[in-house]
Amino acid sequence: MLICSLTDAGDLHKKVRGDFIFYFKKQDSLLVKRLMDKIETPLKNIEKFFTRSSDSPVTVLIIKSETEFRKYFRNQIPEWSQAIAMPEERSIVLKLANADQIKKSPQILLHEIVHVLVFDYTRGRIIPTWLNEGLAEYFSEGTLSFDKKILLADAIVQKRVLDFTAIDTLAHLDYIRARLAYIQAQSAVVFLVDRYGRAKLHALLSYMAENHSFYGAFKKIYGFDFLDFEIQWNEYIYKRYRWLVLLKFEQWLFAAIGILFIIAVIIVYLRNKKKIRELEEQEVEPEDQIDGGR
Ligand SMILES: [Zn+2]
Repeated sequence: MLICSLTDAGDLHKKVRGDFIFYFKKQDSLLVKRLMDKIETPLKNIEKFFTRSSDSPVTVLIIKSETEFRKYFRNQIPEWSQAIAMPEERSIVLKLANADQIKKSPQILLHEIVHVLVFDYTRGRIIPTWLNEGLAEYFSEGTLSFDKKILLADAIVQKRVLDFTAIDTLAHLDYIRARLAYIQAQSAVVFLVDRYGRAKLHALLSYMAENHSFYGAFKKIYGFDFLDFEIQWNEYIYKRYRWLVLLKFEQWLFAAIGILFIIAVIIVYLRNKKKIRELEEQEVEPEDQIDGGR
């Protein structure tokens, strides 16, 4: 259905960047030009890592309307989704329905492009969702942003960290858990790169491309099994991010409100006490004068 819609898109404008062909409405030309300019440098770096193994072009369809976007996928996509990559169909659909989505669009588009490049590089092998999403987030954003670190710290403290297998059901997760799943996936790839280097990550994908399963390839390249990896990663995020929960602004805000309230109560109490004492003294004074007159 999507492919038919794309080929029917005769009234759409077209711009080509390497193997990526952008389709968009005429009125969105400037928007698309800006988007293409913004992704150019990071995309070149990404392409250096995922050397091409497929020559077939990828269509990037830009949609401005939420309804049109959902119509393409017959509503069978999560509520929170802004873009979809379909590597086998050689297409990416990107929605730019509001200012916030336009602002995020360079990173989101790079994320989807990474999915296509991972698919091509591993020759379509099945890779775990956490790794696929983690690679897409890592290559489109780098390390975790401050906000993401705080959310991860919060999940650690509240014992809400998801299992890697739970991340496989990403499309069925609600927004809050899906966001956490993406953050965990990104941090897992950041951890692998931080501790073992990019070359090993590259080797893992190359070995998988030779038709080896993920778990077999992982053990062969990293020298330990996936369970060990999960333990190492848990320790890594615990040490690195747990304390960040102290920086949660709302927490301090509530604490500050609490302290201010107590201070206000004490001030009012002391002031009232002082007033009562003054009133008592005023009431006593005339008697003193009478006594003094005796
Ligand atoms: Zn993704």
